[in-house]
Amino acid sequence: MRIAHVRPSILSVDLPDGEVFAYSQAWYRRRRSLVLEIETADGTVGYGEAFGPAGTNAALIDEVYAPLLLGRDARDRETLWLELYNAMRDHGRKGTALEALSAVDIALWDLAGKHFGEPCHRLAGRNYRRQVAAYATGFYRKQVVGGLTGQAPLLVEEALRYVAAGFTALKVKIGFGIDDDAAVVAAVREAVGPEVRLMVDANHAYDRAAAREVARRIDRYRIDWFEEPLIPEDQRGLGRFRSESPIPLATGEAEFGRWGFADLLRYDAADIVQPDCCAAGGLTEVLKVADLADAAHVRCIPHVWGTGIAVAAALQALAMVAPCPPGLTPREPLLELDRTYNPLREELNLTPPAVGSGMVYTIPTSPGIGFEPDRRVFDAYREPR
Ligand code: CA
Repeated sequence: MRIAHVRPSILSVDLPDGEVFAYSQAWYRRRRSLVLEIETADGTVGYGEAFGPAGTNAALIDEVYAPLLLGRDARDRETLWLELYNAMRDHGRKGTALEALSAVDIALWDLAGKHFGEPCHRLAGRNYRRQVAAYATGFYRKQVVGGLTGQAPLLVEEALRYVAAGFTALKVKIGFGIDDDAAVVAAVREAVGPEVRLMVDANHAYDRAAAREVARRIDRYRIDWFEEPLIPEDQRGLGRFRSESPIPLATGEAEFGRWGFADLLRYDAADIVQPDCCAAGGLTEVLKVADLADAAHVRCIPHVWGTGIAVAAALQALAMVAPCPPGLTPREPLLELDRTYNPLREELNLTPPAVGSGMVYTIPTSPGIGFEPDRRVFDAYREPR
């Protein structure tokens, strides 16, 4: 399986005016993803994706990773992973270096799956579940008169739409001020009733004192987890928050590699770790993080954001995360499913995963990650390079 071509592409979509949205850190006006094709000499193509700045990730692949990959055997995933990681070790042990490496790693898993005719989870011998329930990620703030706060009525409408669609778990964006956060969570809980699982995500909008205050104000609404209350650098603060908050703490979408997560766990800084397959170092590294979490008796529920490739890779990862702990009724992980406008998520995969009632996804068993591109969609959204 000699690697013959390494082709990064940037796919992008300008959001229509009504679909522009904000989380606690920034406005989103455009969706942009780095998609990677690695082709072997026999013409087989593996697909990967990187989270983060697409142009920077593409440049890193072109300049550093592609020369190291060409001519090598695509089956040597972990060997190549370490070589590529080591090539950037002195310059970027977190962030884009790992994001670009994630795209390479996912593409190599996809190639191996296609070569051996097995889904990735079969190659790994890790087939812990065949289905996984999705939770809805949404509740971003819209461009409306009145600004970023006071949007609880709109968010309640959105929650009811997700429940009507079959979702049994919802993650609400917070981080817009303590009073607004409390009002939003109260309104959504009131609207959806007691059975729907609710999570909140502040995207590290708070300092330690404010995060504690938010947790105290919203605990009464039965929250499954509080995601990223603090900046990812404050691992000690996250550890302290976890020990004081009645709400389980989730974090890790902005953490990278086994070493970053080992530090997080050393500080007891998470009840749930959330490595992203397209950021933390690919499927190879997410498996290592999942096993570190298992050893620490901490849940692993991958973060997901991106195109149909990211969703496919996450579903393979979810088949491979061991129940923690096992039992007759283990607490199962969930698939994060972004609900914002993104044709790259909805239309790029010609073989989208099957979804049943309750938004329960069947984990694909086709060879590789379970992704085949619709070339028409791929080419329509590809930026000239
Ligand atoms: Ca998040």
